Amino acid sequence: MKIGTPREILNGENRVAMTPDSATQLQKLGYECLVETGAGAKAGFSDDLYREAGVTVVDSAEALWGTADIIAKVRIPTTEELDYLTEDKTLISFFNPAGNEEGMEAAKAKGASVIAMEMVPRISRAQKMDALSSMANIAGYRAVIEAGNNFGRFFTGQVTAAGKVPPAKVLVVGAGVAGLAAIGTSTSLGAITYAFDVRPEVAEQVESMGAEFVYLDFEEEQADGAATGGYAAVSSPEFREAQLAKFRELAPEMDIVITTALIPNREAPELWTEDMVKSMKPGSVIVDLAAEKGGNCKLTVADEKVVTDNGVTIIGYTDFPSRMATQSSTLYATNIRHMLTDLTPDKDGTVNHNMDDDVIRGATVTHKGEITFPPPPPKVQ
Ligand code: NAD
Repeated sequence: MKIGTPREILNGENRVAMTPDSATQLQKLGYECLVETGAGAKAGFSDDLYREAGVTVVDSAEALWGTADIIAKVRIPTTEELDYLTEDKTLISFFNPAGNEEGMEAAKAKGASVIAMEMVPRISRAQKMDALSSMANIAGYRAVIEAGNNFGRFFTGQVTAAGKVPPAKVLVVGAGVAGLAAIGTSTSLGAITYAFDVRPEVAEQVESMGAEFVYLDFEEEQADGAATGGYAAVSSPEFREAQLAKFRELAPEMDIVITTALIPNREAPELWTEDMVKSMKPGSVIVDLAAEKGGNCKLTVADEKVVTDNGVTIIGYTDFPSRMATQSSTLYATNIRHMLTDLTPDKDGTVNHNMDDDVIRGATVTHKGEITFPPPPPKVQ
């Protein structure tokens, strides 16, 4: 069978779903690999690098989608791309099955199998295919780099001949995958780093990375924030008030605030209010990684960088992984390659779409003319 990767057509998307290295691995599974010309150019992978790795470079999207049996891409396919699907094709991509009814219906009508990368179950065995985590890790790192690029001072404290420099103070709100990556980057750059999460179990991880966990004066502690599967639940009004009171106290002291707080299937909770922004020092920076879901900061504008009247920079970019396209493509292509390893148990270049496998079942959202989303809960946790 042939695996093909088209050029991403969404404006500003620099990633690619197959790299020369991942193609080498895919060929070991018995597949032939194809890419559309220019597919990897923005991620640093030229057509020649693919050719050297034994990949056939085709000159149009039509040729790519027409020839490949399995299409691996990054972004949710457009209507035009979905039109290329046929019943014998398998598409592996981000697909947003819960919010993409049109795409789901189109894939179903075509009879194609769609594996949605955001649906990979978050169980230990599937970590190597967990593209949400690999991309969140990059976003957390890049958020700190963007903050540093917009901050007029060092992160680390220094004693120099020209004067003593205090360390920057960084607050990370939300200590999931992106938040922990931001904490690790911030502490390694030498900033005094604080972190808060509604899930109390992350305090130990936060502290093991050299940051200080922010506790609230609240009777039930952070305990009411944890829901199932390690995700957060909506906080009670009392808890939220205690959280906002703590943030109000911290806001004037913080130089950089990185917000990453999300609750599954909801708009991002608003946690950094206008009065908190107003109380921050000029030159402070907020990076809102929740911008795509409405933002954790009241004044965030998605995809923009704004500077407030009191000199606070608020960054609401939603394309952090794409801003590090070589790294993110390498990790995403590896996630896809692992998915294909599980889909090819006999290493014979043929997909065995085993719907009894928890991971494959969980990620498959259309199959054989049926919508197979949402999946049943995984048997193994
Ligand atoms: P996420 O992106 O859904 O949310 C980011 C963080 O925001 C979470 O830590 C959440 O608790 C926090 N949050 C929500 N509301 C908040 C509020 N009001 N104030 C402060 N923080 C708030 O999370 P994620 O990074 O996708 O991780 C979710 C869970 O999945 C975690 O428990 C993580 O350890 C787990 N996980 C497991 C695996 C695996 O086992 N394979 C892989 C990745 C993540």
